[in-house]
Amino acid sequence: MVKWTLRPDGGRPDGRACAHIESPEPEHAPLSDVCRQCVALGHDWVALRACLSCGHVGCCDSSRHGHATAHFEASGHPLMRSVEDGDEWAWCFVDEVYLQPLDDG
Ligand SMILES: [Zn+2]
Ligand SMILES: [Zn+2]
Ligand SMILES: [Zn+2]
Repeated sequence: MVKWTLRPDGGRPDGRACAHIESPEPEHAPLSDVCRQCVALGHDWVALRACLSCGHVGCCDSSRHGHATAHFEASGHPLMRSVEDGDEWAWCFVDEVYLQPLDDG
């Protein structure tokens, strides 16, 4: 399970914190490798984001529909991460901060 921490270079300059990364809930694995809502509509997307609370996979805000943000607005689940190859970051919708994996090695 990935432990997340605030990303220094991506965070807002006011140094906002994120309480959600201290949640004891285990991170949910992504449920899909497509945006099922876009597939149902027959539309393409730019990139995919996965909800850490329930595993919902939706498309990013650069995509036509922004289903990941729509999922947050519908569910209130605060954290999502990119599931694109090579991406190592997450986003808190509530605190509007970027997160990165905590390197405890
Ligand atoms: Zn947060
Ligand atoms: Zn979508
Ligand atoms: Zn969710």
